Amino acid sequence: MTLADHLTYLCETYQQWEVLVKSKENSFAPTELLSSLRPDERDHRVRVEMGGSGEVIRDAESGDALLEVVWSSARRGWALPESSRAEPHYYVSKENLLVSLCGKVAAPVSSQLSSTPPLGAPVCNACYKRVERGELSIPKSTGAESRIISELLLRGIKFSFSYETSGEETRRGLRVYEREVVGAQLEERNLIVTVNRETKRMAIDVLRLNYHAGKIPAESDVLVTARRGDEEVYCGEGTVGTVVRAWERAPLDSQERQEVKRMIGEFKLPDCQIDSKAQFSDLKRLYDRCSRYYRYASSQIECVKRLTKETTSAFLLHLDEADATWDVTDGEAKFIAELRRQYPELIRTEAGKKERARQSDRQLRQAEERQPIVEARSNLTRFPCKDMLLEVKDVGMLRVGDLKGKMRDGTISPNTLVRYRDSDEWAELGEFLKKWVRSRATREQLNFLTKLQKQRGITDEIPVDMWRSAASARITELLRATAGMR
Ligand SMILES: [Zn+2]
Repeated sequence: MTLADHLTYLCETYQQWEVLVKSKENSFAPTELLSSLRPDERDHRVRVEMGGSGEVIRDAESGDALLEVVWSSARRGWALPESSRAEPHYYVSKENLLVSLCGKVAAPVSSQLSSTPPLGAPVCNACYKRVERGELSIPKSTGAESRIISELLLRGIKFSFSYETSGEETRRGLRVYEREVVGAQLEERNLIVTVNRETKRMAIDVLRLNYHAGKIPAESDVLVTARRGDEEVYCGEGTVGTVVRAWERAPLDSQERQEVKRMIGEFKLPDCQIDSKAQFSDLKRLYDRCSRYYRYASSQIECVKRLTKETTSAFLLHLDEADATWDVTDGEAKFIAELRRQYPELIRTEAGKKERARQSDRQLRQAEERQPIVEARSNLTRFPCKDMLLEVKDVGMLRVGDLKGKMRDGTISPNTLVRYRDSDEWAELGEFLKKWVRSRATREQLNFLTKLQKQRGITDEIPVDMWRSAASARITELLRATAGMR
C-alpha cells in the first residue's frame, strides 16, 4: 500500500472534517496532504497499525512512524457492529474511543458512523431513546447503565470477545476460531493434510504445487488451524481440492497489487492477470528466480558481460519454455552454460577486458559479502524481543540479544540455520531476521497488548511470534470488546 492509497481511502471513507493527518510539525486534512505530496512521497510504501492511542501510518520497510491519524472528537452517529447478531448503538467520542450513549459498548475511533439508524435493523433501545431526547453526551452519573467503557476497562471488569461469543464450540477437538476456511488467510495458517492415514503439515503453496502435480489426491482431508498463544485452534476444514480452490480465489489486497506492479516493472515480465493470492505467489516465485539469476550473472562478471534485468528474465522464461524443471538442481551453472551456448556474444573473451572485470568484480564481491552481515546486524538491533531464544543448528539455544557477539566472533554467520519453534523449518539467520522484523508483531504492539490484557485481567500468554496483522487485529478486538455488565 502506498501513502497515496491510504490517504485516498481516508478521503473516500470519511467527511473532510472528521479526520486529520498529523506529522511532527503540522496537521492536514487528508485531501490537502494528498494534493501537496511529491510523486515519490505519494508512492512511499506504508502500512497502517492500531497503536495505543489510535492509528499510525508507518514506513513499510523500516517501521518508522510517519504520520498519526486523528479523528475529530465531534464525531457521533450510528455504527454497524461487526457481528450481524449484535444491535447497532449510537456512539460519541471519548478519549480515543467511540463510546455508545447507553454506556455499554465501545468501538475503535476509526469506525464509520451514520447520522441515521441503519434500515431494517432493531437498534439499541437505550441509545435510541437518548438520541430522541437529544441527550447526546455520556451521562456523568454512576449508575451501571451509564458507566463508560474506559472506566470499566481500568477496573478490570470482564469483557467478552468476539471469538469467544461463538461459545465453547469445538470441532475436531479444537476450539473454533473460524468456522470455515478463509482463503485470504491460508498463508498464515497451518494445514494438516491426511493422505493414506498419514498426516503432514505443509504450507499452502507446497500443497497447491503437489496437488497440481498430481502427487496428492484432491479428496484428501485438510484441517486448517492457527495458534492462539499456546493453543491450536480450528479454522475450517475441507479437501485438498476445496482448500486449494479457496486459495486460488482469494483476492489480493492493495499492498499486494502494488507489489505485482513493482515486480512486473522491475524485470519487465510479460503482463499477466494476477488476481488471486495463488497467482501472486506464482509471480513472486518467478520474481525471486529472476533476482537470483540476475545476481548470479552479475557476480560472474569475469565471464559474462553485464546482463540487464530484462535480458535475464527473458532468457529464464525461454529456458522454462523448453524445460520447466531445468533449474531443479545446479540452476546457476546451467544458466551460464546455456547462456554460453545460445548467446556467445554475451560471454567475455578479450583478455584485457577480463583483467579489468576481475578487479571490479573483486570490489563488488567484497561489498556483497559485507552486505548480509550489515543487514543482519541492523535487523538484530530492530528485533522486538531480545530475550527470545532461538535454536541455532549445531550450536544450541541462544538469546537473540547474544547473536551479534556470536556473529562478531565468527561462531555464526547470516547463513547459519536457525528456527524458533522446533516444529518450524530451518531458515538462514539473515532471511529469518528480515522476515521477522518485517511481518511479526512490533515491540510497541507487544507492550500495548500486554497492558490491555493486564487491564482486563486476561492471563493468556502473548506469543512473541504473532503476525503483525494478528497483533493489530487483537488490539482492535480488545478495544472493541463488549462490556459484560449489569
Ligand atoms: Zn446502546
